[in-house]
Amino acid sequence: MNGNTCFSALKERILKDGKCLEGGILKVDGFINHQIDPDLLEQMSVEFIKRFAAVEYNKILTIEASGIAPAIMLGFLLHLPVVFAKKKKPSTMDNMLTTTVFSFTKNRSYDVCCSKDFLKPGDKVLFIDDFLANGNAAKGIIDLVQKAGAEIAGMGFLIEKSFQHGGDYLREQGIKVESLAIIDSLDNCAIKFRD
Ligand code: 5GP
Repeated sequence: MNGNTCFSALKERILKDGKCLEGGILKVDGFINHQIDPDLLEQMSVEFIKRFAAVEYNKILTIEASGIAPAIMLGFLLHLPVVFAKKKKPSTMDNMLTTTVFSFTKNRSYDVCCSKDFLKPGDKVLFIDDFLANGNAAKGIIDLVQKAGAEIAGMGFLIEKSFQHGGDYLREQGIKVESLAIIDSLDNCAIKFRD
C-alpha cells in the first residue's frame, strides 16, 4: 500500500454519495462533513493505521472542524491523544503558537492556533485532515509544528485532489503523505479517481 492507492470503501461511497460543485469542490456532507458515517470512519482509520505502521508517532494533530472526527477515531483506536488546532484564539489561552492559513473553500485567510501545552518539543505528530487540496492547511500545520519544536511524522488525508497540487508540495518536502482517495479531476463534474 502507498499514497497512490485508493481505499475502495471510500471510493465507492464517494461515487455513490459524493457531489461535485462548481470550482473543483467535492461535497461529502452525507458521510464525512455534516452527517458522519462512523463505520466508514473506523474502516478508514484502520487503513491509516496500516499505512503508517512503519512510522513512529505519539500524537494525532488535526485542524477544526472537519478533521476532528477522523482524528478522534484514529486516536481512539490507537489510544493516542488528539489535538486540534483552533481557528479562533480562545481568550483563556496564553501559552500559544499561531500561524495564518488561506482557505480555498472560503477564499480568505484565518489564524490558526495551538497551545504550547499540547504541542511540545519532541512530539512526533501524525496530521490527519478530511481534504488535501492546495495544501494551505497542511503548510500552516507544518509551521505550527516547527514553532513548537515538534516533528511531523506523516500526514494522512481522507481525500486528496491531486489537481490542486498540495500533495506534490508535501511529498517534495520529504513528508510521508497517505491519501485514502486521490481524485485526479472533477472536470465537467465527473469524478475521476486515480486507481
Ligand atoms: P487546502 O488547505 O489543502 O487547500 O484545503 C484543505 C481544506 O479545505 C480542508 O481542510 C477542507 O476543509 C477544505 N476543502 C478543500 N477542498 C475541499 C473540497 O473539495 N470539499 C470540501 N468539503 N472541503 C474542501
